[in-house]
Amino acid sequence: MHEPHLFDTPPTPPVSLDMPIHAHWAEAAQAKGFDILHRVQDRYHLELECHACGETHISKLYVVMNNQPTCPHCTETSWKEDAAAAGLFWLGRDPEDRHYGFYEAPCGHQLRRQFELIKRIVAGTCTHRCETCHEAKEQAEAAAEGWVLLGAAPGREMGYRSYRHSCGHEQMIARANMQSGRFNCEACGKGWASARSYIYCMRFELPGQAPVVKLGFSRNPQSRLTYQLKRRPDLQAEILHSVALPTGHKALCVEKPMHATLKRDHPHSMIPPEMYAPWLRVKSEIYSADLQPVILDMLDALPLLPDA
Ligand SMILES: [Zn+2]
Ligand SMILES: [Zn+2]
Ligand SMILES: [Zn+2]
Repeated sequence: MHEPHLFDTPPTPPVSLDMPIHAHWAEAAQAKGFDILHRVQDRYHLELECHACGETHISKLYVVMNNQPTCPHCTETSWKEDAAAAGLFWLGRDPEDRHYGFYEAPCGHQLRRQFELIKRIVAGTCTHRCETCHEAKEQAEAAAEGWVLLGAAPGREMGYRSYRHSCGHEQMIARANMQSGRFNCEACGKGWASARSYIYCMRFELPGQAPVVKLGFSRNPQSRLTYQLKRRPDLQAEILHSVALPTGHKALCVEKPMHATLKRDHPHSMIPPEMYAPWLRVKSEIYSADLQPVILDMLDALPLLPDA
């Protein structure tokens, strides 16, 4: 990556030429928002002063007469303003590509982005997503399941990545499966179906809303909570109780009828997904907190597994 430059106009002052500025040039420049200060460099260049910002720049005579000169200082200001409106800090334009600039994200990382994209962020149609932070997040998701993210999965669909298991085996896995942990290593067979799993009850304090609880199962409820469920690290949440089952498959078989029972006996305690979607990365299994004692009783009724 190249060090960003703030201005592409050379810092040395232009050589002024003692040649006449014709009246119709001055008129054309005036009409387009500029004063002509001097003729510079050769017979075909003018130094212009911008009416809007008072700064100067060099323009071709041809552009003054036939086009609209653009003030690089005003343009720079508008990029800076767009950056601020997008929640980013403007670092400078990319000298290699006139459509790109460098920005600092709130996380402190440097981003190279198209000016058009910044406008779309301001309009709210997309976000700036920092590649470095995103990569770290995917690595953490993989580490929580005992895998290392290697990179793209050539020849597979969009959602797939290449990973290496702690046993050394490399496998292409859908990221969604890595997030839920519901897959097995093809080499050593370890995974959700065969590994010990936990049925858990979690409680979430959603800002500005009544608390909710979640019933679910996971090989590692703590990492599921930290890396997968919470959209924001500062969201208040805790695992109230978890019960070990010998395999993920067994956990699934036990958990499913629990949800069916809750749905049948407490239909009004099911929370619609749009209520918690801004906070939690899950689409169901969320109940109002009045079911907390009911769910905890269900967990207590499960047969206890001796500690492995
Ligand atoms: Zn200007
Ligand atoms: Zn970042
Ligand atoms: Zn393995």
